[in-house]
Amino acid sequence: MTKYIAKIGLEMHCEVSETNTKVFSAARNSYSEKPNTNVRPLDMAFPGTLPVVNKEAVRKALMASMILGCSQPEYMYFERKNYYYPDLPKGFQLTQETKPIPVGIYGKVEFECDGELKTVRVNNLHLEEDAASLDHFYDTSNIDYNRAGVPLLELVTEPDIHSAKEAVAFLEHMRSVYQYSGISEADSKKGQIRCDVNVSIMEDGLDEADPKNWGTKVEIKNVNSFGGVRDAINYEIERQTELKETGEYDKMEQQTRRWDEESGTTIFMRSKVDAIDYKYFVEPNIPKFKISKDWLEEIRKSIPELAMDRKKKYIDSYGLSAYDAGVLVKEKDISDYYEECVKLGIDAKVAANWVTVNIVGELNKEEKSIKDFYLTPSMLKQITDAIGSGLLSSKQAKEVFAKALEENKEPKNFISKENAQISDEGELTKIICEILDNSSEQIAQYKGGRDNIFDYFVGQVMKNTRGKANPVMTKEILHKELDKR
Ligand code: ADP
Ligand code: MG
Repeated sequence: MTKYIAKIGLEMHCEVSETNTKVFSAARNSYSEKPNTNVRPLDMAFPGTLPVVNKEAVRKALMASMILGCSQPEYMYFERKNYYYPDLPKGFQLTQETKPIPVGIYGKVEFECDGELKTVRVNNLHLEEDAASLDHFYDTSNIDYNRAGVPLLELVTEPDIHSAKEAVAFLEHMRSVYQYSGISEADSKKGQIRCDVNVSIMEDGLDEADPKNWGTKVEIKNVNSFGGVRDAINYEIERQTELKETGEYDKMEQQTRRWDEESGTTIFMRSKVDAIDYKYFVEPNIPKFKISKDWLEEIRKSIPELAMDRKKKYIDSYGLSAYDAGVLVKEKDISDYYEECVKLGIDAKVAANWVTVNIVGELNKEEKSIKDFYLTPSMLKQITDAIGSGLLSSKQAKEVFAKALEENKEPKNFISKENAQISDEGELTKIICEILDNSSEQIAQYKGGRDNIFDYFVGQVMKNTRGKANPVMTKEILHKELDKR
């Protein structure tokens, strides 16, 4: 059997957040629980309404273009992509797909997949408007126009991805870039990220750089979860490989399919011969506008620290392991929490340990986001300070942590001198001597060679002090006192 390799290109759509208003209208760009509340006449295509470009959306799009190493345009304009659908009352989508220069062209994305560095070339990045959202029920469909006109960034890659795993690693990397830079919340659960996935296969061993060797691509439209992208790619590679074996693949036309979550299959929609002609033309109501060099410079300077930068800082300056640093930067909110801990003066390694082990563990168990986590960095500091000053043993610290979360009360309520660990040598010696004075039988057994009796003595000390005795000191003093007898 011939071996094939897959070639995959993604068109990743991500909604731009925090632009105050939508990309061409004055309706709020925000997720509202209530459908059809963030809508202005322009979003409904009322006659006489005119688009106004949202500067913040353009700024964020240009920032994304810079992060991806694309070149930025000198001028910007938009064009109409004409088609009718109920989620698009204007009858066209404003985008930058053909002639107009998009917000960026020809960049590249470097990301890690299974510890290996991968590169995917970016063909272009463009700014457009989202359509309304449609919900289909048994015999009715509901439309929510809140989403109509929300700014959308579309990133088009070259077909440089070779597997479902790589595609997901790429998407996770881009989600992190968008979140760290503040360009988007990039929450796929809210439908903020959607992808068109292009897949083809070619014979292994042929020159991949030559498009003549590429197979016929299949475009899978609108996959809205990372899991969906993974499954759709795996399904499509298998399907195309089977077609190749029967000779059908080489006769196949370019086609568009859709991913059917329920059956776990892709379903034929249309062939390229029936491709829609969108009759693109430049939007006449938005004059072409200049992007000044000064503004570009200002945007470049304002690019925040990204996950890669933070990871490097955690390893090089804080001395964390690459693994821990990776866990900390995976989600921006967790990394922000950690940064706050360090800023408050918690030792970087101690804080990393609490966050990666106890806090992430708790969040996973409760399926919570760190934003809804009760214990703030300053509350965590109450615990780590108490360990530092000997008020808490590490075991007690974990108990205080659990109690604070259980009762939603600050840790300091559970930290007191009475509960403090006993680390005073004189006090411990006194307690130990009292126990030994009443244990002549056990001492005799111990002296007679029964070493495990030692644990019995430790147990007695813990029982007497209700677990507060410093365990290391207890053992030391016990050895010393037993030797004397
Ligand atoms: P179209 O003209 O159909 O829009 P493009 O050339 O603009 O196609 O590419 C759209 C997407 O399809 C890009 O992400 C690109 O990388 C990807 N693509 C192009 N050719 C192939 C191929 N043979 N196999 C997989 N993906 C491909
Ligand atoms: Mg598009």
